[in-house]
Amino acid sequence: IEEQLRRSEKLSTLGEMAAVLAHEIRNPLGSIRGTAEILKDDYKPENPKYEFIEIQIRETERLNRVVEDFLHMARPQPTDMQSCQVLDELEMISTLLLSGARERQITLELKSPPFPVTIQADGDKLRQAFLNIIINALQATPIGGRVLISTTVHASTTCEIQFHDTGPGMDAATMERMFEPFFTTKPGGTGLGLVITKKIIETHGGTLMVESEVGKGTTVIVKLPMQTAANGGMP
Ligand code: ADP
Ligand code: MG
Repeated sequence: IEEQLRRSEKLSTLGEMAAVLAHEIRNPLGSIRGTAEILKDDYKPENPKYEFIEIQIRETERLNRVVEDFLHMARPQPTDMQSCQVLDELEMISTLLLSGARERQITLELKSPPFPVTIQADGDKLRQAFLNIIINALQATPIGGRVLISTTVHASTTCEIQFHDTGPGMDAATMERMFEPFFTTKPGGTGLGLVITKKIIETHGGTLMVESEVGKGTTVIVKLPMQTAANGGMP
């Protein structure tokens, strides 16, 4: 299951990166094609160089299609906003990770209010974000440590989820760079988990903050707007 989660983390990351990369490729490709068209006007079809320019145009078109197809395959789903039960989602992700945690004698604990916490969210993306944060916490936590996920609600308008671990914490240099794409301190890490996670939370109108102290542990604090009558909830 560890491998499965690893793969799913990598895949969603890959989808986001693919969209960025495709965009970055398509723009210069448009310039290459446009200028090749202009050059083509300078040559008669008999000229052997005419053929070369046609090859350039044909190949830019092909590259454009490859990018298009790849994007189609990898493009993150259009955000499908629905009523989501935060506590259920957290419970689901925790259950998935429980056996891995148990293997390392880590206590994975949920502290939740006794009432439902409903937000408007794309469930897949929300789970992905929670998964990335909890995987980081579990990876940082030593054998016998503890990961605590506690949810609170402020004035029925904001829900706050704290993901606390008893890992080594982060030094100032890591704190400064943790949201940089590809920044990782782990062998085999992608350095994309937190970038993507922050983006997911922010596209849901929320915020992500990190508090960390070397030797003490790390707390990731996610705040999300609660569902109200105004944003799709039942009055
Ligand atoms: P990755 O997990 O692939 O390294 P992330 O973007 O998820 O990439 O995290 C970036 C870096 O932030 C990690 O390599 C690690 O140094 C640091 N980090 C993230 N979460 C924690 C945590 N809970 N405890 C300590 N360090 C963390
Ligand atoms: Mg990570």
